[in-house]
Amino acid sequence: MKNCQRFAHIKSGFEQDIRRLSGHAERYRGSASAKTSARDAISLRRNMARALNQHLDRCPECG
Ligand SMILES: [Zn+2]
Repeated sequence: MKNCQRFAHIKSGFEQDIRRLSGHAERYRGSASAKTSARDAISLRRNMARALNQHLDRCPECG
């Protein structure tokens, strides 16, 4: 399946944030802020899936 630029843009934006949060969670493992970051990374991943699915539903180029 070939996806459009916009799909790639949405995905890379989310992935950047997820990487940043995961990195923080890794570095400060065991701390309260690491737990928050880990939780945020999980919900962000869920948001990414939702955003990409919505995009696929509407985009004439994808899917
Ligand atoms: Zn698209």
